[in-house]
Amino acid sequence: MIAENLQRTAAGLPEGVRLVAVSKFHPVDALRDAYAAGQRVFGESRVQELCDKAPMMPADTQWHFIGHLQTNKVKPLIGLVSMIESVDSERLLGLIDRLSAERGMVTRVLLQVHVAAEETKFGFSPEELLKYFGGRKYERLRATHLCGLMGMATNTDDMERVRADFARIASLKRQIAEICPDLRGFDELSMGMSDDYRIAIEEGSTLVRIGTAIFGSR
Ligand SMILES: *Cc1c(COP(=O)(O)O)cnc(C)c1O
Repeated sequence: MIAENLQRTAAGLPEGVRLVAVSKFHPVDALRDAYAAGQRVFGESRVQELCDKAPMMPADTQWHFIGHLQTNKVKPLIGLVSMIESVDSERLLGLIDRLSAERGMVTRVLLQVHVAAEETKFGFSPEELLKYFGGRKYERLRATHLCGLMGMATNTDDMERVRADFARIASLKRQIAEICPDLRGFDELSMGMSDDYRIAIEEGSTLVRIGTAIFGSR
């Protein structure tokens, strides 16, 4: 079942869009099924869960951390994950950079932007991001590679609102690239989940984070 869902989903993605299989709350057996069907990139939203699962999966499994990350839980992720998608504050970014430098490695991250209507979602506001890049604060990073933006649309059945949210995130990334033409490799747009990834792709997503449509409900 998982293999079928995965292959159907993956086959429907256009070139240039990569699949992050969101495996949070699912047992390692489910991840192994997806791995056997060819999936290599998995998304987890809790540090402990990711650290428990990682040693039980083949070494070439790539992990994306996608949940809210408390500063006291960053350390075990450094060197373990291939990307932290959910960097939602300068403080967190600074800490990731320091811990990565101490370990002598570079951590790839996305900055999470908040455009959805819900107040509960984490992330930089568009204004904060423009200020961050306008002030060229990224030049201080020593061991962090800013790879792009991650964002979620408003949780609504109004698909035009969803599309507008994704378009806003995509437009923000273009604006940042204009302000900072020297910024290299700021290419990823992580947008789209099970219910809205097709719209996200139409609006320019390069990474879709899909859980339920592959693994079933949590
Ligand atoms: C859980 C989660 C997803 C996957 O959502 P589905 O609706 O199950 O596809 C994607 N992104 C984030 C940040 C999540 O927490």
